[in-house]
Formats: sequence, C-alpha cells, structure tokens
Amino acid sequence: MANSTNYNTVILDIEGTITPIAFVNEVLFPYVTGGIDAFLDRAWGTSDLEHHIQLLREQAEKDVVAGVEGALLIPTTCTTENIKAAVKQNVKWQMASDRKIGALKSFQGFMWKEGYESGEILGIVYDDVVPALQKWQSEGKKIYIYSSGSVPAQKLLISHTKQGDLSKYFSGYFDTSVGPKVEKESYMNIAKALGISDKKSILFVTDNIHEIYAADQAGLQVAIANRPGNAPLGLVDPSFKVVTTFDSF
Ligand SMILES: [Mg+2]
Repeated sequence: MANSTNYNTVILDIEGTITPIAFVNEVLFPYVTGGIDAFLDRAWGTSDLEHHIQLLREQAEKDVVAGVEGALLIPTTCTTENIKAAVKQNVKWQMASDRKIGALKSFQGFMWKEGYESGEILGIVYDDVVPALQKWQSEGKKIYIYSSGSVPAQKLLISHTKQGDLSKYFSGYFDTSVGPKVEKESYMNIAKALGISDKKSILFVTDNIHEIYAADQAGLQVAIANRPGNAPLGLVDPSFKVVTTFDSF
C-alpha cells in the first residue's frame, strides 16, 4: 500500500489527475478544431508553421504507406487554399480518431502556444492541487509531470493557469518520448533519468489504471486520482490508494 509519508519524489499525470478531462475536451481540442482556419491564415508563410505542416505531411505519407484507413496526404505543390484545406482535414481526421501521434501533438501545441500566450486559453487545475504542491515543496520533495501531452504543451498549461504560473513547483517534465505510459519500462526510464535507484521513494499519481499497473510493476508507489468526470474506475485492487482530492496527501 502506498505510504504517503516516505516518498521524496512525486510524479503527476495531468489530464484526469490535476486537470479536469473536460478542460481538454471542452477547451483545448475545440480551440484547435474551431480555430484552425483563422490560425492557418494568420501563420501562413512563417517557417514555424511550415515546419509543423511538414511533420504532418511526413506522418501522412507514412500512414498512407501503412494503409491507415482515412489517411489524408498533404500536397506540397498546390494552391495555398488546397494545402490549407488538406492540413485542416488531416488535423481534424487525426483528432476525430484520437490519435496519439507526435506530428499532431506538435501541431496542436503550436496552436495552443498562441492561445496561452495571448491569454485566450487559461489552464485549469483543481483547487486542491496548489496546496499539495506547496506542501510537497515545503517538505523538500521534488515534483515532476509525466503526461502524454508533449513537454512543450505541458509547460504551457502549467505556466498559464487560472491560479497563475505553477512552473515554480515543478522540477521537470516527461512525455511519451520516455515510453508509453502503460509500460513499466517507461517508469524505469524516468527513475533512471532522475538518478533514483530506490523506486519506492517515488509516488506516481494518475487516473489511468493501466498506468497505475505499469508504475506499480516498475516498483513505484502509486495513487489513483478519481476525479469528477473521469471514466468509472471499476474494480481496483484494494491495495492501491484512491484519492478524490489532493488534500489526502
Ligand atoms: Mg490522465
């Protein structure tokens, strides 16, 4: 059973753990799908946008070769309007399929950057999170994020929240470049990256039971976040700590 006093490192998931899933579905995703036309018009011709479109284009070529159903190519030589339409269709198709693909995440992050920096998007964390971050920090614990969102997207959210810039609480960020969140090797990679050999000194908090299993198998302490709006947990091993609020830490 997770012992809440004997860890000195905390690793937090974002979506469904410190942030309502609704923020992603009702704010971040619609910002992309609803704003992509105007965004492409605004950013057209910049090298940053061309870079992100090239990533989507290369992914689309791989998808077509792999026979992924619904894959849409993005032309290189075509009218501007046709290229924009292809980018838009490609992004919307990938989002509708809920793909966890680097090129898509990079493109979304590129759009969100503008939204966060202009103040149009403000990140949401549950009210009980900041006091827990303060408590952990005052106890000398190091706090990290491990989320499937890209590290740049994680940093944007954490540094532009309704409670202000929370980045001062975090010592680092991990995304799926260390491995999928449902594989125990990913947690071992993180421990290694942090130079921590005693994995029981790490507490990992997430809403996803498969991530809990993986982290537990890697030897970390774990706690399940059961937040409003999360998918029902179902039957869980009673040895796992379940928290509905971070006041429990
Ligand atoms: Mg989650």
